[in-house]
Amino acid sequence: MEVSEKFVRLCGEVSNFTKAKTGTSFVDAYIGPEHLNPENQAKDKTPEEILHGIKEIIDQVADDIDEPLRVEHLIGECQSMIVTVDWLSGKDISYGDLVQGLFHIPLKRFSKPVIDKKIEDLNEALREFPGSELRERVEHFTQKGEISGAELKHLVETDLQNKAIEVGQMFENNIYSLIGTSVTNNGVEYQTVTDAPWSGYNWYQKGFKSLNQFNIDVTFNKNTLQGVIYHEYEHHVSNCWREKFYQESGNLELAVVPLHTGRCVISEGTADTAKDFLGVVDDDTHIKIADALYSLRRMTSINAAIMLNDEGKTEDEAVEYMFERGYRTEKSAQGSIAFIGPKMTDGRPNFWAPYVFTYFFGRTDFVLPTFNKAVEQDELAKFYKTLYLNPYSGSSVTWNKAYEWLS
Ligand SMILES: [Zn+2]
Repeated sequence: MEVSEKFVRLCGEVSNFTKAKTGTSFVDAYIGPEHLNPENQAKDKTPEEILHGIKEIIDQVADDIDEPLRVEHLIGECQSMIVTVDWLSGKDISYGDLVQGLFHIPLKRFSKPVIDKKIEDLNEALREFPGSELRERVEHFTQKGEISGAELKHLVETDLQNKAIEVGQMFENNIYSLIGTSVTNNGVEYQTVTDAPWSGYNWYQKGFKSLNQFNIDVTFNKNTLQGVIYHEYEHHVSNCWREKFYQESGNLELAVVPLHTGRCVISEGTADTAKDFLGVVDDDTHIKIADALYSLRRMTSINAAIMLNDEGKTEDEAVEYMFERGYRTEKSAQGSIAFIGPKMTDGRPNFWAPYVFTYFFGRTDFVLPTFNKAVEQDELAKFYKTLYLNPYSGSSVTWNKAYEWLS
């Protein structure tokens, strides 16, 4: 069997394994042939058998495939799969080793002075808002823009749906025109859900379309939501290019979009940099404040995740930290525990617990510095070609090598 077909089958087995252990599939999207569909793969393999299969792929890759970037990409994904299976079969792995093993990035926390500086920026952005204390001003700001439930559902299905069409057009005008080629795009459909551990999610569907779901149990801020559209739309775009490459090359491993690998670091990093790609500059003070709050929250969530998973702190302590330092309401801090906490309410391991690192570090340690360099050197066209026309560039394992041409 060809190594890429083996890989797809193994992803299916790992997916069935993670679903049994956590309720969540290791495979985020699948666009390949039906007989290799993850759901049709073995469900009864032991962790040892799965691990054996993955190690066989690693041994075989270099013999079967010539292209170095493709080889490294595949091996990187396999190594993350090994860590996923080890972790969920109960092997004792520290949180730092888990993050490093899955995403190939080090566990980093933010020091007190760094968070202090962010709070200072927020204070500055909210200068004109009523209230003597910063917390009072943040509360005033967030309450004014708060939206959830039926009102959120309406906004998602009308304004956000329209906004997404606009963002799609921006990708065509600003990016595809530079690349000199386009990709089929059957659009993104906006829907709302309840009872999910995440606040929003992009589900890529075979055939160049996506489903964007928003969790209406979560209280969003109207100003932050605009930013979410850029993020989620970029996921759609990058998957469309992946599907195109897959159809043209027939490289089966691209039919699977796995979670918890080096791929996610770049995927979340590019999604969080989409506004920069599109040259969106917000003059609106509300959006600037929402952005300042957003990055403070991302950073304090990372620290809270380390408290919970690495330092053995309690949920109450993590909630208090996010309240105090992230300037969140207790309810919103409590809500994020489902995403960053080590265990689900039923006691099973929380599949999402290590994921919070992908966004911030994907952007600041990989995508943004490379993008900025490309801007400085007037190499944006080549940057986007590398990003969208070569899916093997999209992993924390291969990123730096793929952009070696940028001096
Ligand atoms: Zn995302």
